[in-house]
Amino acid sequence: MSIARFWRETPRRYNLGGSKCTACGTVYFPPRPVCPHCTHHRQSIEKMVPFQLSGSGEVVSYTVVHEAAEGFEMQVPYVVALVKTDEGPVLTGQVVDVEPDGVAIGLRVRATFRKLREEGQAGVIHYGYKFAPVDDPDRAPRGPPMAEVRAAPAATDRASA
Ligand SMILES: [Zn+2]
Repeated sequence: MSIARFWRETPRRYNLGGSKCTACGTVYFPPRPVCPHCTHHRQSIEKMVPFQLSGSGEVVSYTVVHEAAEGFEMQVPYVVALVKTDEGPVLTGQVVDVEPDGVAIGLRVRATFRKLREEGQAGVIHYGYKFAPVDDPDRAPRGPPMAEVRAAPAATDRASA
């Protein structure tokens, strides 16, 4: 598979599949088998359905990390944010494609699928979601245009090979 095709298909492979309680409308990510809001009614057990999060949301809290955890040494400083998705669940993730001082509470972001880290000598590469600023003219984030920094790394997904 070509690198370009791999990156096009990655969002579908690592989608933000959650669950939704059709009794009260609450969305969960990761998905839950029952709804904590409804459990005392026992009505939610059959009411949970798969739900696809859009990945869009806004930063509600964030931290600039200067001391990297093992495996993240090349990335400091980086930003880890709590992102409240438009559907409700709050996700934690790194904010990319923007300098740390360009991140602010209220920044509109969208989940994007990136290499998270490379593990050990086997070179197992983990992918998952990170957040990138959305081009929103009303709340324009500071930073380079996403197109300039969207170049796919020349990495292969050995984890799934
Ligand atoms: Zn519920």
